Amino acid sequence: MGGVGISALHQLNGIIRERRGRELDAAFTVLMPGNFPLLSRPPKGRRRGEILMTADERLGEIAEAIGGGHTAPISRLMKALTYGMFTRGVQASGKRFSVLGACTGCGTCANVCPAGNIDIVDDRPVWARQCELCCACFHSRPAEAIQLNVLLGTEGRGRYRHPDVTVADMERQAGRNRTRRAG
Ligand code: SF4
Repeated sequence: MGGVGISALHQLNGIIRERRGRELDAAFTVLMPGNFPLLSRPPKGRRRGEILMTADERLGEIAEAIGGGHTAPISRLMKALTYGMFTRGVQASGKRFSVLGACTGCGTCANVCPAGNIDIVDDRPVWARQCELCCACFHSRPAEAIQLNVLLGTEGRGRYRHPDVTVADMERQAGRNRTRRAG
């Protein structure tokens, strides 16, 4: 997470409870470069490298804690404070994306969308109303052609993808998600 990761952990906990009848014994967060365009500008260069290095160290600490049988309740505070507000209207957020002239109509944004929310029509992406605001489409094109039209907008905000994750990885993952949803 780039800022607040608690809500995702609550969701995960709920899914495990529903499917397995048990809950997480503990939950941990790892601070990564923030890439939610409405809240942060992705860090670059040295700062980005430091965050990724610290994240690797944190993973070592988490592995040790798990090995030591660490348990910890998941905080409910951040969920109570932020989640309801965030999720209201999130699916309609897709309608707030647009493209600039730099768009080549390559279709990558549609391929990386885990929600199947983008169609390519006349060589341009068209967003529907089942967006999860994951921002994969926004970050997947180096030409920065996709913009999110909220508040001050996102022109010049930069883009971020983890250096070990390729666009092909994102396309594969999104394809699996779409298959799972269709099933
Ligand atoms: S990739 Fe993510 S942000 Fe973009 S339309 Fe799909 S769900 Fe929404």
